[in-house]
Amino acid sequence: MLAAMSEVVDSLLVFQTVNLSVRAEKVLRAAGVPFEVLPLPKEITRGCSIAIGVTGGILSTATDVLDRSNAPVEAVYRRAGDRWELAGEQDTAVSPRLCSIYLDNNATTRPHPDVIRAVTDFLSRNPGNPSSVHSSGRRAREALEDARAAVARLIGADASEIVFTSGGTESNNMALFGVLAARGNTAHIITAKTEHSCVLESCHKLEQSGARVTYLPVDANGIVDLEALRLAVSPDTVLISIAYANNETGVIQPIREIAEIARRNNVLFHTDAVQAAGKIPLDVNRDGTDLLSLSAHKFHGLKGTGALYVRKGVTVSPLLHGGGQEGGLRSGTENTVGIVAMGEAATLALNDLEETARRIETLRDLLYESIAGRFPWVKINGHPSRRLPNTLNLCFRDISGEELAAFLDKEGICVSTGSACASGEPEPSHVLLAMGLTEQEARSSVRFSLGRETSAEDIERTAQAVIRVVGRYHQSM
Ligand code: PLP
Repeated sequence: MLAAMSEVVDSLLVFQTVNLSVRAEKVLRAAGVPFEVLPLPKEITRGCSIAIGVTGGILSTATDVLDRSNAPVEAVYRRAGDRWELAGEQDTAVSPRLCSIYLDNNATTRPHPDVIRAVTDFLSRNPGNPSSVHSSGRRAREALEDARAAVARLIGADASEIVFTSGGTESNNMALFGVLAARGNTAHIITAKTEHSCVLESCHKLEQSGARVTYLPVDANGIVDLEALRLAVSPDTVLISIAYANNETGVIQPIREIAEIARRNNVLFHTDAVQAAGKIPLDVNRDGTDLLSLSAHKFHGLKGTGALYVRKGVTVSPLLHGGGQEGGLRSGTENTVGIVAMGEAATLALNDLEETARRIETLRDLLYESIAGRFPWVKINGHPSRRLPNTLNLCFRDISGEELAAFLDKEGICVSTGSACASGEPEPSHVLLAMGLTEQEARSSVRFSLGRETSAEDIERTAQAVIRVVGRYHQSM
């Protein structure tokens, strides 16, 4: 295939998304620029990208036409013998500004400057292994235990109930596999269709080992069906695992009611609070949760650090075996740097939690009102009020969310879609499908997730950019 390709094209224009390449095709065809749509050669490995090949000499015409018509080229490759070499990333064809407005805080957040300072300070003090008994080790242990207390405060727990892990994925795996291993691998678990993939995939794996799993439906607002939950509980149910708040829509589940159903039936309740922590007040005792997962990079800590809250008296089998760190629940030398960062991030989040939440919520609602004021058919995906204060997931009906996100990226605004792309063809979000959206609606959705750094000016510029892009899209239809 490559040999045939190189006979006809000298340059490959690579596009971020299938939809953008389709748009580019239309633009090039209308402009009379000769081109070929080609599969991406193996040596070019770029996520969702697909390529359009342009014959020699007219690359600048093609990129110019595409630039003016707002079909951003991700990269340009040129033929070098029988291989393709990167000739330029984006700026060869178009010159997007760097992402200056970051509205993808549910994906990850920037480490807070105080977190970076705490980490630098900790590292400069040459910390030892917290399991060592000498003074350097004792200093590391002290820092670790301070962080544990700070993380515990964020969720109203006791420090002894916090187990540090490598992040939300491990915490969720530990809760599910750990409880099942302790209670018999063939028992019954209840979860929801809208859970994060690390919960759903763990459940699928447990099913392969003989467990029974019920995947609860949600209503059109994304709220778990409590009646279905009551009916699903049976004598062999050992665990209910429902996320506190959804990562795509921000929908907050009726956690206390779920915990009450679990308690009455003598079933453990785990909640994935990765998205809720640091955004809304959490209290494991008020809520009645037995296990709760956290991830530091979602609240301005570092990636690769998390925690699992395990209520005193709850038995969880460890996933990792070895030196017996973390009370025997998670062997392996602790990631002291990440943990110190997590402790600092937890303290910072708790300091001004409600005030920050209110400010962010006002900005989020302003963004929605500005967009919906112009395009009243734009709809919120998720419950109108039971949502995280920072999350706005919008359905733009007939516009591809992926394409809209790529256009906004070109304007320097980072947002995301819920679609997963493994092979060039994005899958619509399982969360939105579970809420009853059609595939088209799910593919037309974009998530804006604000953060503590988001300003009113960011929101104004984002609203203007969305209005401009959506307006232009409708004109071109
Ligand atoms: N659970 C939820 C709800 C999430 O949003 C994420 C991350 O996106 C995870 C779990 C996984 O967390 P981590 O990235 O720390 O593994």
